[in-house]
Amino acid sequence: MSKGIDIVVIGSGFGGSVCAARLAEAGFPVTLLERGPWRDTVPVRSMGIASRSAFPRGWQLPTRLLRAVGANWFPGSRVRLNKHGLFELFFAKGATIACSSNVGGGSHVYSAVNVRPLAQQFWEGHNAAISDHVMSGHYDAVLERMGSVTPMADHRIPNTSAARYKDNPVLEAAAPPPDPRLGYLLPEDPDNPTKITDENGIERFEVDYRGNDDGFLGSPKGGKTTLDTVYLAPALKRGLQVRDMAEVTAIVRLGSAPDSRYRIEYIDHHGGGKSSITASHVILAAGTMNTLRILLHSRDVIGGLTGMPQLGKRFGTNGDYFGIWDYNDPKVDHSIGLPTTGGVRPRGDDTAPMIGGGGLPSVDSYPLPKALRERLKRAAFIAGLGEDELCGEVRLRGGKLHIEYDPARSSIFERIRTTFEKMAAATGRKIYAPKTPVTVHPLGGACLGNSIEDGVVGADGQVFDNPGLYVADAAALPRSPGGPPSMTIAAWSDHLATEFIARHRHQVPRS
Ligand SMILES: Cc1cc2nc3c(=O)[nH]c(=O)nc-3n(C[C@H](O)[C@H](O)[C@H](O)COP(=O)(O)OP(=O)(O)OC[C@H]3O[C@@H](n4cnc5c(N)ncnc54)[C@H](O)[C@@H]3O)c2cc1C
Repeated sequence: MSKGIDIVVIGSGFGGSVCAARLAEAGFPVTLLERGPWRDTVPVRSMGIASRSAFPRGWQLPTRLLRAVGANWFPGSRVRLNKHGLFELFFAKGATIACSSNVGGGSHVYSAVNVRPLAQQFWEGHNAAISDHVMSGHYDAVLERMGSVTPMADHRIPNTSAARYKDNPVLEAAAPPPDPRLGYLLPEDPDNPTKITDENGIERFEVDYRGNDDGFLGSPKGGKTTLDTVYLAPALKRGLQVRDMAEVTAIVRLGSAPDSRYRIEYIDHHGGGKSSITASHVILAAGTMNTLRILLHSRDVIGGLTGMPQLGKRFGTNGDYFGIWDYNDPKVDHSIGLPTTGGVRPRGDDTAPMIGGGGLPSVDSYPLPKALRERLKRAAFIAGLGEDELCGEVRLRGGKLHIEYDPARSSIFERIRTTFEKMAAATGRKIYAPKTPVTVHPLGGACLGNSIEDGVVGADGQVFDNPGLYVADAAALPRSPGGPPSMTIAAWSDHLATEFIARHRHQVPRS
Protein backbone atom coordinates (compact mmCIF):
# COMPACT_ATOMS: atom_id res chain seq x y z
CA MET A 1 0.00 0.00 0.00
CA SER A 2 1.43 3.37 -0.96
CA LYS A 3 1.29 6.11 1.67
CA GLY A 4 1.01 9.11 -0.65
CA ILE A 5 -2.07 10.67 -2.14
CA ASP A 6 -3.80 8.77 -4.92
CA ILE A 7 -7.32 9.13 -6.17
CA VAL A 8 -9.80 6.71 -7.69
CA VAL A 9 -12.81 8.19 -9.47
CA ILE A 10 -15.72 5.83 -10.12
CA GLY A 11 -17.82 6.64 -13.20
CA SER A 12 -17.04 8.99 -16.08
CA GLY A 13 -20.22 11.03 -16.56
CA PHE A 14 -20.60 14.71 -15.71
CA GLY A 15 -19.69 14.10 -12.08
CA GLY A 16 -16.73 11.79 -12.75
CA SER A 17 -15.07 13.20 -15.86
CA VAL A 18 -14.98 16.80 -14.66
CA CYS A 19 -13.22 16.13 -11.37
CA ALA A 20 -11.03 13.32 -12.73
CA ALA A 21 -9.74 15.62 -15.47
CA ARG A 22 -9.24 18.62 -13.22
CA LEU A 23 -7.41 16.63 -10.55
CA ALA A 24 -5.16 14.88 -13.08
CA GLU A 25 -4.41 18.21 -14.74
CA ALA A 26 -3.46 19.59 -11.30
CA GLY A 27 -0.84 16.85 -11.02
CA PHE A 28 -2.57 14.28 -8.78
CA PRO A 29 -2.35 10.58 -9.65
CA VAL A 30 -5.92 9.71 -10.73
CA THR A 31 -7.36 6.40 -11.91
CA LEU A 32 -10.84 6.49 -13.40
CA LEU A 33 -12.89 3.28 -13.30
CA GLU A 34 -15.79 3.17 -15.77
CA ARG A 35 -18.02 0.15 -16.32
CA GLY A 36 -18.87 1.08 -19.92
CA PRO A 37 -16.68 1.00 -23.03
CA TRP A 38 -14.99 3.74 -24.98
CA ARG A 39 -17.44 4.44 -27.79
CA ASP A 40 -16.44 4.11 -31.41
CA THR A 41 -16.60 7.76 -32.44
CA VAL A 42 -14.46 9.93 -34.70
CA PRO A 43 -13.02 11.81 -31.67
CA VAL A 44 -12.19 8.61 -29.76
CA ARG A 45 -10.47 7.13 -32.83
CA SER A 46 -8.40 10.28 -33.13
CA MET A 47 -7.37 9.83 -29.50
CA GLY A 48 -5.76 6.53 -30.51
CA ILE A 49 -7.99 4.41 -28.25
CA ALA A 50 -7.82 0.89 -29.69
CA SER A 51 -10.65 -0.88 -27.85
CA ARG A 52 -13.90 0.78 -28.85
CA SER A 53 -17.51 -0.30 -28.89
CA ALA A 54 -20.06 0.79 -31.49
CA PHE A 55 -23.31 2.50 -30.60
CA PRO A 56 -26.40 0.37 -31.22
CA ARG A 57 -27.22 0.61 -34.90
CA GLY A 58 -28.79 -1.65 -37.53
CA TRP A 59 -29.20 -5.30 -36.59
CA GLN A 60 -27.18 -4.72 -33.42
CA LEU A 61 -29.69 -2.16 -32.21
CA PRO A 62 -31.90 -4.60 -30.30
CA THR A 63 -28.97 -6.39 -28.65
CA ARG A 64 -26.83 -3.36 -27.86
CA LEU A 65 -29.55 -0.95 -26.78
CA LEU A 66 -29.70 -2.15 -23.20
CA ARG A 67 -26.90 -2.96 -20.83
CA ALA A 68 -29.09 -4.03 -17.94
CA VAL A 69 -32.63 -3.96 -16.63
CA GLY A 70 -33.60 -3.83 -12.97
CA ALA A 71 -36.87 -3.73 -11.09
CA ASN A 72 -38.10 -3.79 -7.53
CA TRP A 73 -39.87 -7.05 -8.27
CA PHE A 74 -37.02 -8.85 -10.16
CA PRO A 75 -35.79 -11.94 -8.32
CA GLY A 76 -32.12 -10.95 -8.80
CA SER A 77 -32.55 -7.14 -8.63
CA ARG A 78 -31.15 -6.62 -12.14
CA VAL A 79 -30.27 -8.62 -15.21
CA ARG A 80 -27.24 -7.73 -17.30
CA LEU A 81 -28.06 -8.17 -20.98
CA ASN A 82 -24.93 -6.94 -22.76
CA LYS A 83 -21.85 -5.38 -21.15
CA HIS A 84 -21.48 -3.17 -24.26
CA GLY A 85 -25.14 -2.06 -24.05
CA LEU A 86 -25.94 1.65 -24.03
CA PHE A 87 -28.76 2.07 -21.49
CA GLU A 88 -29.70 0.74 -18.10
CA LEU A 89 -33.35 0.81 -17.02
CA PHE A 90 -34.82 0.63 -13.52
CA PHE A 91 -38.51 -0.08 -13.18
CA ALA A 92 -39.46 1.24 -9.75
CA LYS A 93 -42.64 1.99 -7.91
CA GLY A 94 -43.64 5.41 -9.22
CA ALA A 95 -40.76 5.97 -11.65
CA THR A 96 -39.02 4.34 -14.58
CA ILE A 97 -35.40 5.49 -14.62
CA ALA A 98 -32.92 5.45 -17.51
CA CYS A 99 -29.17 6.00 -17.42
CA SER A 100 -26.32 5.00 -19.72
CA SER A 101 -22.95 3.24 -19.75
CA ASN A 102 -19.96 4.68 -21.60
CA VAL A 103 -16.62 6.34 -21.08
CA GLY A 104 -18.14 9.82 -21.02
CA GLY A 105 -21.35 8.69 -19.25
CA GLY A 106 -24.60 10.48 -20.05
CA SER A 107 -22.90 12.98 -22.37
CA HIS A 108 -23.14 10.42 -25.18
CA VAL A 109 -26.91 10.04 -24.93
CA TYR A 110 -28.06 13.39 -23.67
CA SER A 111 -29.77 16.09 -25.75
CA ALA A 112 -26.96 18.52 -24.94
CA VAL A 113 -29.18 21.25 -23.52
CA ASN A 114 -26.67 23.08 -21.31
CA VAL A 115 -28.42 25.33 -18.82
CA ARG A 116 -28.13 26.56 -15.26
CA PRO A 117 -30.83 25.54 -12.72
CA LEU A 118 -34.31 26.84 -13.46
CA ALA A 119 -35.18 26.57 -9.76
CA GLN A 120 -34.45 29.99 -8.25
CA GLN A 121 -31.69 30.23 -5.62
CA PHE A 122 -30.91 26.61 -6.25
CA TRP A 123 -27.76 26.41 -4.11
CA GLU A 124 -29.05 28.49 -1.18
CA GLY A 125 -29.94 26.99 2.18
CA HIS A 126 -28.38 23.52 1.97
CA ASN A 127 -24.94 24.14 3.46
CA ALA A 128 -23.59 27.34 4.99
CA ALA A 129 -20.47 27.29 2.76
CA ILE A 130 -22.35 26.80 -0.53
CA SER A 131 -24.37 29.48 -2.28
CA ASP A 132 -25.37 30.58 -5.79
CA HIS A 133 -22.47 33.04 -5.64
CA VAL A 134 -19.93 30.32 -4.74
CA MET A 135 -21.19 28.05 -7.52
CA SER A 136 -21.58 30.68 -10.24
CA GLY A 137 -17.96 30.56 -11.44
CA HIS A 138 -18.11 26.77 -11.70
CA TYR A 139 -21.00 27.01 -14.19
CA ASP A 140 -18.94 29.50 -16.20
CA ALA A 141 -15.96 27.12 -16.16
CA VAL A 142 -17.85 24.03 -17.32
CA LEU A 143 -19.87 25.88 -19.97
CA GLU A 144 -16.64 27.25 -21.36
CA ARG A 145 -14.84 23.91 -21.41
CA MET A 146 -17.88 22.24 -23.01
CA GLY A 147 -17.72 24.92 -25.69
CA SER A 148 -21.47 25.40 -25.22
CA VAL A 149 -22.98 27.72 -27.78
CA THR A 150 -25.93 30.09 -27.65
CA PRO A 151 -28.10 29.24 -30.65
CA MET A 152 -28.46 32.25 -32.99
CA ALA A 153 -30.17 32.96 -36.29
CA ASP A 154 -26.75 32.73 -38.01
CA HIS A 155 -26.58 29.04 -37.15
CA ARG A 156 -29.54 28.44 -39.48
CA ILE A 157 -30.80 25.53 -37.35
CA PRO A 158 -33.77 24.05 -39.19
CA ASN A 159 -37.00 22.76 -37.69
CA THR A 160 -36.89 24.67 -34.41
CA SER A 161 -40.03 25.11 -32.33
CA ALA A 162 -39.88 28.84 -32.98
CA ALA A 163 -40.09 28.29 -36.74
CA ARG A 164 -42.55 25.41 -36.63
CA TYR A 165 -45.14 27.01 -34.35
CA LYS A 166 -44.77 30.60 -35.61
CA ASP A 167 -48.18 30.63 -37.28
CA ASN A 168 -49.75 27.77 -35.37
CA PRO A 169 -53.10 28.85 -33.89
CA VAL A 170 -52.98 26.49 -30.91
CA LEU A 171 -49.29 26.03 -30.02
CA GLU A 172 -46.32 28.35 -29.66
CA ALA A 173 -42.63 28.08 -28.88
CA ALA A 174 -42.00 28.43 -25.15
CA ALA A 175 -39.72 31.23 -24.01
CA PRO A 176 -36.15 29.83 -23.74
CA PRO A 177 -34.60 29.53 -20.28
CA PRO A 178 -32.15 32.27 -19.25
CA ASP A 179 -28.75 31.80 -20.97
CA PRO A 180 -29.81 28.86 -23.18
CA ARG A 181 -26.81 26.95 -24.53
CA LEU A 182 -26.23 23.81 -26.53
CA GLY A 183 -23.39 21.31 -26.42
CA TYR A 184 -22.97 20.78 -30.17
CA LEU A 185 -20.33 21.73 -32.68
CA LEU A 186 -22.63 23.70 -34.96
CA PRO A 187 -21.65 23.97 -38.62
CA GLU A 188 -20.09 27.11 -40.08
CA ASP A 189 -21.87 26.23 -43.32
CA PRO A 190 -24.92 24.00 -42.70
CA ASP A 191 -24.75 22.73 -46.28
CA ASN A 192 -21.17 21.54 -45.82
CA PRO A 193 -20.48 20.27 -42.32
CA THR A 194 -16.75 19.67 -42.08
CA LYS A 195 -14.23 17.84 -39.94
CA ILE A 196 -12.27 19.98 -37.52
CA THR A 197 -9.23 19.21 -35.38
CA ASP A 198 -9.16 20.97 -32.01
CA GLU A 199 -6.14 22.33 -30.14
CA ASN A 200 -5.65 18.91 -28.49
CA GLY A 201 -5.51 17.13 -31.84
CA ILE A 202 -9.01 15.67 -31.44
CA GLU A 203 -10.97 15.30 -34.65
CA ARG A 204 -14.74 15.68 -34.93
CA PHE A 205 -17.34 16.58 -37.51
CA GLU A 206 -19.65 19.54 -37.25
CA VAL A 207 -23.30 18.61 -36.80
CA ASP A 208 -25.05 17.62 -40.00
CA TYR A 209 -28.62 18.93 -39.64
CA ARG A 210 -29.80 16.30 -42.12
CA GLY A 211 -27.84 13.45 -40.50
CA ASN A 212 -30.19 12.63 -37.57
CA ASP A 213 -27.27 10.87 -35.87
CA ASP A 214 -26.41 12.99 -32.81
CA GLY A 215 -29.25 12.11 -30.46
CA PHE A 216 -30.05 9.61 -27.68
CA LEU A 217 -28.26 6.78 -29.48
CA GLY A 218 -24.90 8.55 -29.53
CA SER A 219 -23.08 10.82 -31.91
CA PRO A 220 -20.58 8.67 -33.86
CA LYS A 221 -19.07 11.58 -35.77
CA GLY A 222 -18.65 13.78 -32.71
CA GLY A 223 -21.13 16.56 -33.55
CA LYS A 224 -22.35 16.36 -29.97
CA THR A 225 -19.80 17.55 -27.42
CA THR A 226 -19.01 14.67 -25.09
CA LEU A 227 -16.94 14.46 -21.94
CA ASP A 228 -14.40 12.00 -23.34
CA THR A 229 -13.53 14.61 -25.95
CA VAL A 230 -13.37 17.80 -23.91
CA TYR A 231 -12.41 16.59 -20.44
CA LEU A 232 -10.76 13.17 -20.65
CA ALA A 233 -8.69 13.55 -23.82
CA PRO A 234 -6.58 16.47 -22.52
CA ALA A 235 -6.34 14.86 -19.06
CA LEU A 236 -5.00 11.60 -20.52
CA LYS A 237 -2.05 13.62 -21.75
CA ARG A 238 -1.53 14.84 -18.18
CA GLY A 239 -1.39 11.34 -16.73
CA LEU A 240 -5.03 10.41 -16.11
CA GLN A 241 -5.43 6.61 -16.16
CA VAL A 242 -8.78 5.40 -17.50
CA ARG A 243 -9.82 1.78 -17.04
CA ASP A 244 -12.89 1.15 -19.17
CA MET A 245 -15.17 -1.86 -18.66
CA ALA A 246 -14.29 -1.77 -14.95
CA GLU A 247 -17.48 -2.16 -12.91
CA VAL A 248 -17.12 -1.27 -9.25
CA THR A 249 -19.01 -3.52 -6.88
CA ALA A 250 -17.90 -2.29 -3.45
CA ILE A 251 -15.83 0.19 -1.48
CA VAL A 252 -14.15 -0.92 1.74
CA ARG A 253 -12.61 1.48 4.24
CA LEU A 254 -9.37 -0.04 5.49
CA GLY A 255 -9.40 1.11 9.12
CA SER A 256 -11.06 3.76 11.24
CA ALA A 257 -8.36 6.44 11.37
CA PRO A 258 -9.28 9.68 9.55
CA ASP A 259 -6.59 9.00 6.93
CA SER A 260 -7.55 5.35 6.33
CA ARG A 261 -7.25 4.16 2.77
CA TYR A 262 -9.99 2.53 0.74
CA ARG A 263 -10.11 -0.66 -1.30
CA ILE A 264 -12.28 -0.47 -4.40
CA GLU A 265 -13.46 -3.84 -5.70
CA TYR A 266 -14.43 -4.15 -9.33
CA ILE A 267 -15.08 -6.56 -12.16
CA ASP A 268 -12.80 -6.20 -15.18
CA HIS A 269 -15.14 -6.84 -18.11
CA HIS A 270 -12.17 -7.09 -20.47
CA GLY A 271 -11.78 -10.60 -19.10
CA GLY A 272 -9.72 -9.96 -15.99
CA GLY A 273 -12.40 -11.14 -13.56
CA LYS A 274 -12.58 -9.73 -10.03
CA SER A 275 -9.98 -7.11 -9.24
CA SER A 276 -9.27 -4.35 -6.74
CA ILE A 277 -7.30 -1.18 -6.28
CA THR A 278 -6.60 0.94 -3.20
CA ALA A 279 -6.61 4.70 -2.89
CA SER A 280 -6.29 7.41 -0.29
CA HIS A 281 -9.28 9.22 -1.81
CA VAL A 282 -12.31 7.82 -3.64
CA ILE A 283 -14.65 10.00 -5.67
CA LEU A 284 -17.91 8.29 -6.41
CA ALA A 285 -19.72 9.40 -9.58
CA ALA A 286 -21.43 6.31 -10.97
CA GLY A 287 -24.68 8.19 -11.63
CA THR A 288 -27.38 8.47 -8.97
CA MET A 289 -28.72 4.91 -9.10
CA ASN A 290 -25.35 3.20 -9.20
CA THR A 291 -23.69 5.54 -6.72
CA LEU A 292 -26.48 4.72 -4.27
CA ARG A 293 -26.23 1.01 -5.09
CA ILE A 294 -22.47 0.97 -4.42
CA LEU A 295 -22.78 2.92 -1.15
CA LEU A 296 -25.71 0.88 0.15
CA HIS A 297 -24.14 -2.45 -0.82
CA SER A 298 -20.78 -1.44 0.67
CA ARG A 299 -22.41 -0.42 3.95
CA ASP A 300 -25.31 -2.84 4.38
CA VAL A 301 -24.11 -6.05 2.71
CA ILE A 302 -20.37 -6.24 3.14
CA GLY A 303 -19.82 -3.79 6.01
CA GLY A 304 -17.07 -1.94 4.13
CA LEU A 305 -18.53 1.46 5.04
CA THR A 306 -20.43 2.66 8.09
CA GLY A 307 -22.79 5.45 9.12
CA MET A 308 -24.44 7.69 6.50
CA PRO A 309 -27.85 7.76 8.24
CA GLN A 310 -29.37 9.92 5.46
CA LEU A 311 -28.20 7.63 2.64
CA GLY A 312 -30.95 6.86 0.12
CA LYS A 313 -33.26 9.58 1.46
CA ARG A 314 -34.46 12.58 -0.57
CA PHE A 315 -34.33 10.86 -3.94
CA GLY A 316 -35.99 12.72 -6.83
CA THR A 317 -36.57 12.62 -10.57
CA ASN A 318 -36.47 16.31 -11.60
CA GLY A 319 -40.15 16.00 -12.46
CA ASP A 320 -39.32 14.26 -15.76
CA TYR A 321 -42.14 12.90 -17.82
CA PHE A 322 -41.35 11.39 -21.22
CA GLY A 323 -43.86 10.58 -23.93
CA ILE A 324 -44.08 9.95 -27.66
CA TRP A 325 -45.96 12.53 -29.69
CA ASP A 326 -47.40 11.01 -32.84
CA TYR A 327 -47.20 14.37 -34.55
CA ASN A 328 -47.62 12.81 -37.99
CA ASP A 329 -47.72 15.95 -40.08
CA PRO A 330 -46.53 14.98 -43.59
CA LYS A 331 -44.87 18.42 -43.84
CA VAL A 332 -42.68 17.90 -40.75
CA ASP A 333 -39.72 15.53 -40.78
CA HIS A 334 -38.51 15.52 -37.18
CA SER A 335 -35.25 13.85 -38.13
CA ILE A 336 -34.01 17.15 -39.58
CA GLY A 337 -32.33 19.71 -37.34
CA LEU A 338 -30.90 19.19 -33.87
CA PRO A 339 -31.95 16.28 -31.63
CA THR A 340 -33.88 18.74 -29.48
CA THR A 341 -35.93 21.38 -31.20
CA GLY A 342 -36.81 23.68 -28.27
CA GLY A 343 -39.74 24.26 -25.95
CA VAL A 344 -43.41 24.26 -26.85
CA ARG A 345 -46.60 25.16 -25.00
CA PRO A 346 -50.29 25.74 -25.68
CA ARG A 347 -50.55 29.23 -27.17
CA GLY A 348 -50.83 31.90 -24.47
CA ASP A 349 -50.43 29.45 -21.57
CA ASP A 350 -47.94 31.24 -19.32
CA THR A 351 -48.36 28.64 -16.61
CA ALA A 352 -47.34 25.64 -18.73
CA PRO A 353 -44.34 23.70 -17.40
CA MET A 354 -41.16 23.32 -19.46
CA ILE A 355 -41.90 20.95 -22.33
CA GLY A 356 -39.37 20.12 -25.00
CA GLY A 357 -38.83 17.46 -27.57
CA GLY A 358 -37.30 16.39 -30.82
CA GLY A 359 -37.22 13.68 -33.41
CA LEU A 360 -36.59 10.04 -32.64
CA PRO A 361 -32.83 9.42 -32.82
CA SER A 362 -30.88 7.81 -35.68
CA VAL A 363 -34.05 6.50 -37.34
CA ASP A 364 -32.27 5.50 -40.55
CA SER A 365 -30.32 2.92 -38.59
CA TYR A 366 -33.37 1.03 -37.31
CA PRO A 367 -33.64 -2.51 -38.72
CA LEU A 368 -37.11 -1.74 -40.08
CA PRO A 369 -38.66 -1.36 -43.55
CA LYS A 370 -38.08 2.07 -45.11
CA ALA A 371 -41.77 3.00 -45.08
CA LEU A 372 -41.92 2.44 -41.34
CA ARG A 373 -38.75 4.45 -40.78
CA GLU A 374 -40.20 7.34 -42.78
CA ARG A 375 -43.33 7.15 -40.67
CA LEU A 376 -41.26 7.22 -37.47
CA LYS A 377 -39.56 10.39 -38.65
CA ARG A 378 -42.95 12.07 -38.34
CA ALA A 379 -43.19 11.13 -34.64
CA ALA A 380 -41.28 12.89 -31.89
CA PHE A 381 -40.35 12.40 -28.27
CA ILE A 382 -41.81 14.91 -25.88
CA ALA A 383 -40.59 15.55 -22.36
CA GLY A 384 -41.84 17.75 -19.58
CA LEU A 385 -39.77 18.58 -16.53
CA GLY A 386 -39.79 20.78 -13.47
CA GLU A 387 -38.98 20.80 -9.81
CA ASP A 388 -40.31 17.80 -7.90
CA GLU A 389 -40.31 17.05 -4.19
CA LEU A 390 -37.35 14.86 -3.28
CA CYS A 391 -39.79 12.47 -1.65
CA GLY A 392 -38.32 9.18 -2.83
CA GLU A 393 -36.20 6.68 -0.97
CA VAL A 394 -33.67 4.18 -2.28
CA ARG A 395 -32.56 1.30 -0.08
CA LEU A 396 -31.59 -2.33 -0.19
CA ARG A 397 -34.21 -4.93 0.50
CA GLY A 398 -32.94 -8.48 0.74
CA GLY A 399 -29.73 -7.22 -0.91
CA LYS A 400 -31.67 -5.77 -3.90
CA LEU A 401 -31.92 -2.11 -4.85
CA HIS A 402 -35.44 -0.98 -3.98
CA ILE A 403 -36.79 2.42 -5.07
CA GLU A 404 -39.91 4.03 -3.64
CA TYR A 405 -41.13 7.18 -5.36
CA ASP A 406 -44.64 8.62 -5.34
CA PRO A 407 -45.22 11.05 -8.23
CA ALA A 408 -48.57 12.06 -6.71
CA ARG A 409 -46.62 14.00 -4.06
CA SER A 410 -45.22 16.43 -6.66
CA SER A 411 -47.67 18.68 -8.50
CA ILE A 412 -45.34 18.95 -11.51
CA PHE A 413 -46.47 15.60 -12.93
CA GLU A 414 -50.15 16.55 -12.97
CA ARG A 415 -49.25 19.88 -14.59
CA ILE A 416 -47.27 18.13 -17.32
CA ARG A 417 -49.97 15.50 -17.86
CA THR A 418 -52.62 18.22 -18.18
CA THR A 419 -50.46 20.16 -20.65
CA PHE A 420 -49.84 17.02 -22.72
CA GLU A 421 -53.61 16.49 -22.83
CA LYS A 422 -54.23 20.10 -23.90
CA MET A 423 -51.61 19.83 -26.65
CA ALA A 424 -52.97 16.52 -27.90
CA ALA A 425 -56.53 17.83 -27.89
CA ALA A 426 -55.60 21.10 -29.60
CA THR A 427 -53.64 19.42 -32.38
CA GLY A 428 -55.60 16.19 -32.72
CA ARG A 429 -52.25 14.33 -32.49
CA LYS A 430 -51.90 11.70 -29.81
CA ILE A 431 -49.30 11.87 -27.04
CA TYR A 432 -48.51 8.47 -25.58
CA ALA A 433 -47.14 8.91 -22.06
CA PRO A 434 -46.97 5.95 -19.66
CA LYS A 435 -48.82 6.15 -16.37
CA THR A 436 -45.55 5.80 -14.47
CA PRO A 437 -43.34 8.77 -15.42
CA VAL A 438 -40.05 7.99 -17.18
CA THR A 439 -37.08 10.00 -15.95
CA VAL A 440 -33.57 10.45 -17.31
CA HIS A 441 -32.69 12.79 -14.43
CA PRO A 442 -32.58 10.77 -11.19
CA LEU A 443 -30.87 12.71 -8.41
CA GLY A 444 -30.38 12.93 -4.67
CA GLY A 445 -30.09 10.17 -2.10
CA ALA A 446 -26.57 11.23 -1.03
CA CYS A 447 -27.47 14.88 -0.67
CA LEU A 448 -25.42 17.91 0.24
CA GLY A 449 -26.31 18.96 3.79
CA ASN A 450 -25.09 20.92 6.77
CA SER A 451 -24.35 17.87 8.87
CA ILE A 452 -24.83 14.14 9.15
CA GLU A 453 -28.33 14.93 10.49
CA ASP A 454 -29.61 16.29 7.18
CA GLY A 455 -27.22 15.12 4.47
CA VAL A 456 -24.61 12.62 3.37
CA VAL A 457 -21.93 15.00 2.03
CA GLY A 458 -20.64 18.39 3.11
CA ALA A 459 -19.53 21.49 1.23
CA ASP A 460 -16.42 19.80 -0.20
CA GLY A 461 -18.40 16.76 -1.41
CA GLN A 462 -16.88 14.56 1.30
CA VAL A 463 -19.07 12.02 3.07
CA PHE A 464 -19.48 13.35 6.61
CA ASP A 465 -18.56 10.16 8.42
CA ASN A 466 -16.25 8.49 5.86
CA PRO A 467 -13.36 10.94 5.33
CA GLY A 468 -11.64 10.57 1.97
CA LEU A 469 -14.83 9.36 0.26
CA TYR A 470 -16.67 11.89 -1.95
CA VAL A 471 -19.85 12.04 -4.06
CA ALA A 472 -19.41 14.12 -7.23
CA ASP A 473 -22.49 13.20 -9.27
CA ALA A 474 -26.23 13.87 -9.31
CA ALA A 475 -26.73 11.82 -6.13
CA ALA A 476 -25.29 14.77 -4.17
CA LEU A 477 -27.79 17.34 -5.52
CA PRO A 478 -29.95 18.62 -2.65
CA ARG A 479 -32.80 19.81 -4.85
CA SER A 480 -34.16 19.33 -8.38
CA PRO A 481 -32.82 21.98 -10.78
CA GLY A 482 -36.19 21.88 -12.57
CA GLY A 483 -34.44 22.00 -15.94
CA PRO A 484 -31.77 19.86 -17.60
CA PRO A 485 -29.25 19.11 -14.82
CA SER A 486 -25.96 18.19 -16.49
CA MET A 487 -24.31 21.60 -16.04
CA THR A 488 -25.36 21.66 -12.38
CA ILE A 489 -23.76 18.24 -11.84
CA ALA A 490 -20.65 19.33 -13.74
CA ALA A 491 -20.48 22.57 -11.72
CA TRP A 492 -20.75 20.59 -8.45
CA SER A 493 -17.92 18.34 -9.58
CA ASP A 494 -15.83 21.33 -10.66
CA HIS A 495 -16.38 22.86 -7.22
CA LEU A 496 -15.37 19.60 -5.53
CA ALA A 497 -12.16 19.49 -7.59
CA THR A 498 -11.35 23.12 -6.78
CA GLU A 499 -11.76 22.49 -3.05
CA PHE A 500 -9.70 19.32 -3.24
CA ILE A 501 -6.87 21.01 -5.11
CA ALA A 502 -6.82 23.91 -2.63
CA ARG A 503 -6.64 21.55 0.34
CA HIS A 504 -4.15 19.02 -1.02
CA ARG A 505 -1.99 21.11 -3.32
CA HIS A 506 1.07 20.55 -1.09
CA GLN A 507 0.67 16.78 -1.60
CA VAL A 508 0.96 16.81 -5.39
CA PRO A 509 3.79 14.40 -6.17
CA ARG A 510 6.83 16.09 -7.74
CA SER A 511 7.33 14.95 -11.30
C1 LIG B 1 -31.82 10.40 -23.07
C2 LIG B 1 -31.24 11.45 -22.16
C3 LIG B 1 -31.29 12.79 -22.52
C4 LIG B 1 -30.77 13.77 -21.65
N1 LIG B 1 -30.74 15.08 -22.04
C5 LIG B 1 -30.16 16.00 -21.22
C6 LIG B 1 -29.98 17.34 -21.64
O1 LIG B 1 -30.30 17.73 -22.76
N2 LIG B 1 -29.41 18.22 -20.78
C7 LIG B 1 -29.01 17.84 -19.52
O2 LIG B 1 -28.52 18.68 -18.78
N3 LIG B 1 -29.15 16.57 -19.11
C8 LIG B 1 -29.68 15.64 -19.93
N4 LIG B 1 -29.76 14.33 -19.54
C9 LIG B 1 -29.35 13.99 -18.19
C10 LIG B 1 -27.85 13.85 -18.02
O3 LIG B 1 -27.31 13.02 -19.01
C11 LIG B 1 -27.59 13.26 -16.64
O4 LIG B 1 -28.22 14.08 -15.68
C12 LIG B 1 -26.12 13.17 -16.34
O5 LIG B 1 -25.46 12.37 -17.29
C13 LIG B 1 -25.88 12.59 -14.96
O6 LIG B 1 -24.52 12.75 -14.67
P1 LIG B 1 -23.84 11.80 -13.61
O7 LIG B 1 -22.39 12.11 -13.56
O8 LIG B 1 -24.62 11.87 -12.35
O9 LIG B 1 -24.06 10.31 -14.17
P2 LIG B 1 -23.79 9.69 -15.60
O10 LIG B 1 -23.55 10.72 -16.62
O11 LIG B 1 -24.88 8.71 -15.82
O12 LIG B 1 -22.42 8.91 -15.41
C14 LIG B 1 -22.29 7.79 -14.57
C15 LIG B 1 -21.24 6.87 -15.17
O13 LIG B 1 -20.90 5.90 -14.19
C16 LIG B 1 -20.80 4.64 -14.80
N5 LIG B 1 -21.05 3.59 -13.80
C17 LIG B 1 -22.25 3.19 -13.30
N6 LIG B 1 -22.07 2.19 -12.41
C18 LIG B 1 -20.75 1.98 -12.35
C19 LIG B 1 -19.95 1.06 -11.62
N7 LIG B 1 -20.51 0.19 -10.76
N8 LIG B 1 -18.61 1.07 -11.80
C20 LIG B 1 -18.02 1.95 -12.68
N9 LIG B 1 -18.75 2.83 -13.41
C21 LIG B 1 -20.09 2.86 -13.23
C22 LIG B 1 -21.85 4.67 -15.89
O14 LIG B 1 -21.57 3.71 -16.88
C23 LIG B 1 -21.75 6.11 -16.39
O15 LIG B 1 -20.82 6.20 -17.44
C24 LIG B 1 -30.24 13.36 -20.41
C25 LIG B 1 -30.18 12.00 -20.06
C26 LIG B 1 -30.65 11.05 -20.94
C27 LIG B 1 -30.53 9.59 -20.55
